Amino acid sequence: MRAVVVGAGIGGLVAARLLRKAGLEVVVLEAHTYPGGLAGSFYHKGYRFDAGATLLSGLAPGAPLEVVGRLVGLSWPVKPLPQGFPLMEVHLPQGRVVRPVGREEEKRAQKEAFGPRVLPFWDWQEDRARRLLALSPWLAWPPEREEVLPLARRLPGLAPLLPDLWRRASARAPGIPGFRRFLEAQLLISAQSQDAYALYAALALDLPHLGPALVPGGVGQVAEALAEGLEVRYRARVLRLLREGRKVVGAEVAYGGRRRGEREVLKGEVFLLNVPPRPLLGLPEAVPRDAWGAFVVYGVLPFAVNPPFYRQNAKERPFAFLSLRPEGKKTVFSLSLHTPLDPWLGVSAPEYARLKALWQERALSLGEGLLPGLREAELLFAATPLTYRRFVGRAWVGGYPQTHPWRFPRVRVLENAFRVGEGVFPGQGIPAAALSGLRAARLALAYLGFREALACLDMPGWPVPSGLPAP
Ligand SMILES: Cc1cc2nc3c(=O)[nH]c(=O)nc-3n(C[C@H](O)[C@H](O)[C@H](O)COP(=O)(O)OP(=O)(O)OC[C@H]3O[C@@H](n4cnc5c(N)ncnc54)[C@H](O)[C@@H]3O)c2cc1C
Repeated sequence: MRAVVVGAGIGGLVAARLLRKAGLEVVVLEAHTYPGGLAGSFYHKGYRFDAGATLLSGLAPGAPLEVVGRLVGLSWPVKPLPQGFPLMEVHLPQGRVVRPVGREEEKRAQKEAFGPRVLPFWDWQEDRARRLLALSPWLAWPPEREEVLPLARRLPGLAPLLPDLWRRASARAPGIPGFRRFLEAQLLISAQSQDAYALYAALALDLPHLGPALVPGGVGQVAEALAEGLEVRYRARVLRLLREGRKVVGAEVAYGGRRRGEREVLKGEVFLLNVPPRPLLGLPEAVPRDAWGAFVVYGVLPFAVNPPFYRQNAKERPFAFLSLRPEGKKTVFSLSLHTPLDPWLGVSAPEYARLKALWQERALSLGEGLLPGLREAELLFAATPLTYRRFVGRAWVGGYPQTHPWRFPRVRVLENAFRVGEGVFPGQGIPAAALSGLRAARLALAYLGFREALACLDMPGWPVPSGLPAP
């Protein structure tokens, strides 16, 4: 039996590894020449840059990357960060706050910055994050119709969490202006919104404690580790999915490189879609009205820097996020801003160039506030929402605000075709993409009736979807 995975992003690769472990023949089709998508790293003028993601977390026991590594027997090419390591620094109008690794260390830093009134917030955050992490293997999220009942049966475990599905994080936070600004800035990078529903916010704020790590050589190494040993066909762009009724029966692929001009229909029993499914089914891709885009400036600095390697400018809006990666005596950086999509769409070439220069200048002046000397960069170039659109084949990249939990697409697109990654958890990062890979693989195996393999994937208690049609 063959699984066809469209796209070698984190979600697609995680699903591919799990399905192969379950005994399926797996073919991954990737339009680019390297894996990782938004979590990939590319070479430019002799340096390696991270296309999107720079900050890796999710390696703590029970967190998605740890679970995946354990299930497929993979040790990640990363340097885990010790307790107390200054992971991130948030620059506020009233000063700087460091976010260290470790919850106790973080509480100390928060108390020092904002006073003891913030501590109940962090106690609440820790409680919710711990509960969610413990529950995550049991939580089929977002649920398919047939999973709602098994999920409801778990309500006793979920009950204490439910009010935080409705409440906003800001309603949990003390009214200290500096802390409010801190919260807004941190939620913007993790929840794509300056406020979010409280349960999501609790987990999003847990990033420094979910097992963060540095990836020497670039975040793309994570995807490369996942791709190793898999049959990944690069320069293989899927043009459309062929359907028979409610099933996908094949993917029409156009090859580039040495196979340029060749086309093929690859048949399979299940299809994992790490790309927007609608265009492949001949339908327009819907872009939410409040979707964000990303604007990123990449560069190389002729000097070394010390931690924290992640810095956020919350002194001014838009909040800029600077990621630094030491490369010998130099430093590779990316500096990202959220941007609305509208100004970029349908503009003429000169207007696009003007906008790009304007945003680059804006980003650099905010970046200088985070690291004086940033303008000394040897090499500078930028990616706009249109660059990302071309690069990753999505109408928009950046996510939409996580202001309530009822807004998620279904994982199952057709009987035997499943969304995975960004399409399920837009803008929610590598751990979410990995979790989605686990989930899509489980749904695909349940559909195929691979009960034993499902048991081997050992997500104890995840309801095996029942009542699914046999293949
Ligand atoms: C600027 C920016 C900064 C970010 N920073 C962080 C961060 O610091 N930490 C973090 O955890 N997350 C971060 N993220 C989010 C994170 O990168 C994504 O959530 C995650 O990588 C999405 O993975 P995915 O599985 O959805 O696959 P994607 O990355 O969306 O990959 C999809 C793959 O499919 C391929 N593809 C597309 N169309 C086709 C086709 N027709 N045929 C074949 N292949 C196709 C693409 O080439 C791509 O390789 C950031 C994102 C952005 C944009």
